[in-house]
Order: sequence, then C-alpha cells, then structure tokens
Amino acid sequence: MKIGCPKEVKAQEFRVGVTPAAAQEAVANGHEVIMQAGAGAGAGFADADYEAAGARIAHTAEDVFSEAEMVVKVKEPQAAERKLLRGGQILFTYLHLAPDPDQTRDLLESGVTAIAYETVTDRAGGLPLLAPMSEVAGKLAPQVGAWALQKANGGRGVLMGGVPGVGPAEVVVIGGGVVGTHAARVAAGMGADVVVLDRSLPRLRYLDDAFRGEFTTRYASAATTADLVARADMVVGAVLIPGAAAPKLVSRAQLGSMKPGAVLVDVAIDQGGCFETSKATTHEDPIYEVDGIVHYCVANMPGAVPRTSTIALGNATLPFIIALANKGWKAACESDEHLLAGLNTHAGRLTNYAVGRALGIDV
Ligand code: NAD
Repeated sequence: MKIGCPKEVKAQEFRVGVTPAAAQEAVANGHEVIMQAGAGAGAGFADADYEAAGARIAHTAEDVFSEAEMVVKVKEPQAAERKLLRGGQILFTYLHLAPDPDQTRDLLESGVTAIAYETVTDRAGGLPLLAPMSEVAGKLAPQVGAWALQKANGGRGVLMGGVPGVGPAEVVVIGGGVVGTHAARVAAGMGADVVVLDRSLPRLRYLDDAFRGEFTTRYASAATTADLVARADMVVGAVLIPGAAAPKLVSRAQLGSMKPGAVLVDVAIDQGGCFETSKATTHEDPIYEVDGIVHYCVANMPGAVPRTSTIALGNATLPFIIALANKGWKAACESDEHLLAGLNTHAGRLTNYAVGRALGIDV
C-alpha cells in the first residue's frame, strides 16, 4: 500500500504522523512510504532520516494526498487538506468530529474512509491512541508548574524538592487517571510532597497499592479537596468525565483561601477546565494571574515537546498502520473490534454513534 504523510499545517503543530522508525517497518512489510519534504522537521526528523528508512520524499502536500492510498497525520485535516481527500482512500489521524460539523460534512462528501485515533479502543476499556498524549501532559504538568512557582513568573518562590532543612512544595493532583498518575510521579520525583485525589475507589486502591511511599491518596470529597487546595503550593487539575465538560472543582472564591503565589495547572482545560477561573492559554503566553494565584492552562501541552510526543504517538499508532496497510481497512477492522471503533466515516456515511448523536446525523 502507498502510505502518505503530509507536513502538519495547523498552527503551532510540530508533530508528524509517521516517524522514520514507522516508515522503516512499513517498508519492511512491503509498503511504500511517501513523506512530504520537511514533514518531520518540527520533531527533529530530517528528510534524510526518512530516505535512510526507505521512504520517498514528495515536494508538496498535493503530491502526497494524490498518491497515497492511506494518509497518516496527527491533527484533523484542515479545510484545504480536506479538498485533497477522496473515496477509496484511508485517513488515519485525530479527528474529534463531534464538535466539528464542517469537517464532518467535508469528510462525508469526500467519501474517504476516516479512522479517528481518539475513538480507537483497547481491551482494558482505554483509549490507546489518546493515552500517550495524557502521559506526556501529565509528566509536563509539574515541570511547567515548578517554573510557574518561581518568583519571576509570579509564583510563591518555592522549590519543588526543598533543600536539607527546608520542606518541599506541597502538590495536590485532582484526578488520578493517566494524566494524574504521571503528574504525581514526576512531582514526587522532584521531591515534592504529593497527594492524589480521585472519586473512583477502585482507582484509589490501585494507586495506593502501586505507589504507596511515592505519594498518598485521598477521596475527592468537596471538603477534602477544598482543605488540600488551601494548603497547596501547586494544584494539578487532571479530571475527566468521558463525553462531558470537566466539573469545576475549585471556585473563584476558593482562590482567596489559597497561599498567595500558589500555582494551578489545569490540564483538563481541553475539556473546559476544572477550575472556575481557567481559560485556555498558549505556549507563547502560558500563564496569567487571578487573585494572586498563577494559572497555567495550555490546551495542547504535548505540543511543547513535539519530538517526545511524536515518538510516543508513533509507538501507539504503528501496529494499526501496519494492520491497515497489510490487510486493507475492511479486513483490518473486521479482525479487530478496537480498530473498528475508530472508524468514523466510510463512503459518505457516518459510522460512529457518539459522533452521530452529537451532530444529529443518522449512523
Ligand atoms: P483519565 O480518564 O485517565 O483520568 C481521569 C480521572 O479523573 C479518573 O481517574 C476519574 O475517576 C477522575 N475523576 C473524575 N471526576 C473526578 C472528580 N470530580 N474528582 C476527582 N477525580 C475525578 O483521563 P486522563 O487521560 O488522565 O485525562 C485527564 C484530562 O486531561 C482530560 O480532560 C484530558 O482531556 C486532559 N488532557 C489534556 C491535555 C492538554 O494538553 N491540556 C493533554 C492530554 C489530556
């Protein structure tokens, strides 16, 4: 199969859909890989790396889309890219169609077979192509929070790990899922005193079993949350209620109970944020202050580390790319219900119930 990978065109997107390692495996499986010139540059991969892996370099996105039987990307196709898609072609990328009727209409009109990373499932009930980005965002959260805690950035001027004779920062992580666990581990690794709050008792049991000694856990009642937030130097918001906006767990009034210069890192900002005073920020201008509390609310945190993010995403997508290329989309989906869950559009029909419900389109 001819697998094409264009350069991402969405603003501030430096990741790339196919790594040289993935290209090499696809070529070893008998497929042809066509990369747009410069596609990997933002993630630190040169055209020569792809050529060494056996891929071919095409000059324009048009060349890639017109030749490819399967287009592999990172972000949803932008309007100009959607004009290049066609029936019989596979598109494998993040789509997030539910809030995006324009994109959905264009994909249906093109007839493309679109498989969305974010709806592919796994045996444990997780979302294996979203998890790597949660891992990255979680590990970044204490790193950016520690930077925001520095005086020059408006923070309390507290060092995460303290020093001999001086206590460490107190970090509260609300939500102990993928983001929260990775955030807690890094914060603890930096020497901070870390508490993880969750509303799921099975999850708290797992965290207590696996990480006792590294951090402690508490049930996320409103009273316990308020008490711990008031004492924290840093609060990481990492909750998720699938399919719903994030619940607001810290109100504006509560900011007054917090230590001046404390930091809120709202990772859940892509779901609306879990602090009342959160509003999305960018990597260029990541923090702002409300009532003396520093807020960090970047909606695409993995974009800060496109090389790590690209490799992490590539590790997760590779087996699916190989299955789709080896078997074709139909046989690949028929033999794997989890990949089938990723199918969003085919030949002008919407094939995902949740997206259909959100957009009022029959599936
Ligand atoms: P997850 O499903 O693995 O974990 C969410 C956890 O929140 C679960 O353990 C759940 O029990 C818990 N929870 C739900 N309601 C709660 C409440 N009221 N109080 C305490 N805990 C509660 O999800 P995840 O992959 O860790 O993602 C967390 C959030 O981070 C999501 O909103 C996701 O979209 C977001 N995210 C943001 C970025 C970014 O760049 N900003 C990147 C990746 C993920």
